[in-house]
Amino acid sequence: MRHLSEGRSIADPYCVIVAGSPDVVVVGAGVVGAACAYFLATSGARVQLIDRSFVASGSSGACEGNVLAWDKELERELPLALRSADLWADLARTLPDGFEYDRKGSIVVAETEAELCASAERARLLATLGVRGEVLDAEALRREEPHAAHDLPGGVLYPGDAQLEPRLATIALTRAAVARGATLTTDRTVERIMRRRDGAVTGIGTSAGAIAAGAVVVAAGVWTPALVETAGLSVPVTPRKGQIVVLERSPVRFRRKLSEAGYVAAVEAGDDAALQIAMVVESTESGTALLGSSRQHVGFDREVDIDVAGAIARRAARFFPVLDGARALRVYAGLRPLSPDHVPIVGPFAEAPNLCVATGHEGAGIGLAPATGELVAAWHAHAPTPVPIEWFSPDRFAPAALAVS
Ligand SMILES: Cc1cc2nc3c(=O)[nH]c(=O)nc-3n(C[C@H](O)[C@H](O)[C@H](O)COP(=O)(O)OP(=O)(O)OC[C@H]3O[C@@H](n4cnc5c(N)ncnc54)[C@H](O)[C@@H]3O)c2cc1C
Repeated sequence: MRHLSEGRSIADPYCVIVAGSPDVVVVGAGVVGAACAYFLATSGARVQLIDRSFVASGSSGACEGNVLAWDKELERELPLALRSADLWADLARTLPDGFEYDRKGSIVVAETEAELCASAERARLLATLGVRGEVLDAEALRREEPHAAHDLPGGVLYPGDAQLEPRLATIALTRAAVARGATLTTDRTVERIMRRRDGAVTGIGTSAGAIAAGAVVVAAGVWTPALVETAGLSVPVTPRKGQIVVLERSPVRFRRKLSEAGYVAAVEAGDDAALQIAMVVESTESGTALLGSSRQHVGFDREVDIDVAGAIARRAARFFPVLDGARALRVYAGLRPLSPDHVPIVGPFAEAPNLCVATGHEGAGIGLAPATGELVAAWHAHAPTPVPIEWFSPDRFAPAALAVS
């Protein structure tokens, strides 16, 4: 990749790249764009991070902050998740701004003996791949979480899983990127991506004029396909709505991050599936508790549906009866960027080698953001990556690739 910040001017019929133009424009200041900007700036690139609204105004401000390994696709997503978990731990130690990072461990709670057997089986498989888990019987589950319902047979504790506050984490990454020389531009919509006849990208068109750049990274979450289309390319990401119920502060505390064993089935359900609800419960540093979550295909609708919120609360109370009658402080909804094979889409297009996308993380974009940013920065610098970026290529959905697979 050319670095264009050495004072040269490169003129072409479409765009002029002058001294001071960024090496890379990153579109979208959600957690993924912020992580890309941070790692790119750390590697020495001149970065401009642009958002049409404010930092964490998209899905990264309407989600939970689980950093989990146990629920990942095993071949490509798990190695990325393990790398990302280590990076989050490092970032929590090294970034000046805190983001309530807590490697508190998570418990997958089984509702039936069959679920407990299946969860134990998965734990054995994950252990062979570097994820430590401990099977809990009913008594051990209640020692860990005294509020667990008495008929629950047990679960699996994954001590390496963590929790963080996603808005604070996105802001911390953004501020650290700026401290390393990145420019942040908010309230600026990117309207199009500009390409030359040979396919290369020359920059972007925004609501306040064009910006020339050596490369463009689109990390615009569920809005990525619309922007990539302006360059004549496609990314098959669709929005998958989810809601979270925030409870009022109360003395009831949950020690671990809690998810029901049926969560993976809800995540993997077909793209046209009806409403899915799987229990996820966490206590936060401020003393509230978050109850999740739902999965629905309802386009770009981000309105709260109070019936869905009620169903989420009932599901949580099934596992933790102490929550029956708990009072909600607020409810919010966000859109998960879903890819057809449930694996993130990260990397350049063969047709436009200096246009990179970073999206498709569905319900795991917070957890996977640092490793994604690291991959994108390594791509830009032609540096080796801990995990092959080709695993996540947008080209795997091109018609020719699909015909072969
Ligand atoms: C209910 C719920 C719970 C979740 N829980 C978790 C969890 O516990 N752990 C986890 O890892 N993940 C979780 N997720 C998933 C996570 O929220 C997403 O994967 C992640 O936030 C995606 O981040 P992003 O940066 O790709 O997108 P976003 O955060 O949506 O950022 C995209 C940004 O692009 C900007 N943008 C879009 N178009 C343009 C344009 N044309 N010009 C300029 N800017 C533009 C937007 O304003 C936005 O700020 C959850 C999601 C939901 C909905």
